[in-house]
Amino acid sequence: MSKTVGFLGLGHMGGPMAANLVKAGYDVRAFDPSPAAREQAEKDGVALVDSGVAAATGREVVITMLTNGKLVRDVYAELLPVATPGTLFLDCSTIDVADAKAAAEAAVAAGHRALDAPVSGGVTGAAAGTLTFMVGGEEPDFAEALPMLEVMGAKVVHCGVSGVGQAAKICNNMLLGISMIGLSEALVLGEKLGLSHQSFFDVVSTASGQSWALTTYCPVPGPVPTSPANNDYQPGFATALMNKDLGLAAEALRANGIDGQIGQLAAEIYRRFNETSADRDFSAIVTEVRARSGESPA
Ligand code: NAD
Repeated sequence: MSKTVGFLGLGHMGGPMAANLVKAGYDVRAFDPSPAAREQAEKDGVALVDSGVAAATGREVVITMLTNGKLVRDVYAELLPVATPGTLFLDCSTIDVADAKAAAEAAVAAGHRALDAPVSGGVTGAAAGTLTFMVGGEEPDFAEALPMLEVMGAKVVHCGVSGVGQAAKICNNMLLGISMIGLSEALVLGEKLGLSHQSFFDVVSTASGQSWALTTYCPVPGPVPTSPANNDYQPGFATALMNKDLGLAAEALRANGIDGQIGQLAAEIYRRFNETSADRDFSAIVTEVRARSGESPA
């Protein structure tokens, strides 16, 4: 018998995730205050209720997919007192490690169980059920959540105790932001020195400068036809989201006394870029490097 699920947050990610659970036979009761999100979820066959409390009451598992840590904590404060004792709270939002730990502690203090389970894979991964989940929390709770996570994702990694799932997420995205900026600087330098994008790709993709940013997500059109650069930098992964994740990483660096100079700088570079380009794919940072170097578009 599959678990009964309360699902809060039916946005770009949560909507298709909830729909996949329904398709797999889970009894899902969902809430989102946004009329557009509700309309889409209804089309996808997700049963809606009128409040978070109604979604969470009497459920075995409560899943949240929300925009930020404050919202997750506020929603937990509302739901924890009404949920059946022992409910498994599963937060899939990307939030600060400290908020994730605080939310989980509040759940445990109220007699429940909690996992942080942020994702990567974007909207396409959410729709296809091929997300990667990075999970923090106790092993028995992880084991209980696993079948559900495997419906929504293709890869599920138990990273450690509470908050460590979020740690994996921000460490990965900090590295991705840094490597995209570094790659963009190298590409623009290559352009200036007369190196074609294809020659750059042919050499670097099999040399020591190789990265996912280059081989899967090349920020200039041509070498990787599926990358957003070939589609006028439509996201993909929007700059607004990279800016958010780098902000969380920069805060975690500061809070933990890590001398993360490049991580801080990457956060600052994307913070500035976000002021003009929040809706563009984050790989469009290459156009910013070019503009700031006084170079014309390639
Ligand atoms: P979104 O803004 O599309 O969805 C958030 C939804 O939460 C909205 O529909 C909003 O109406 C709803 N909401 C707000 N208050 C609520 C409440 N009290 N109860 C229930 N629902 C409420 O955001 P998204 O793109 O789906 O992202 C969700 C999370 O996933 C974020 O933390 C984001 O960083 C993370 N994430 C997003 C992507 C991506 O590509 N979009 C990729 C990986 C991780």
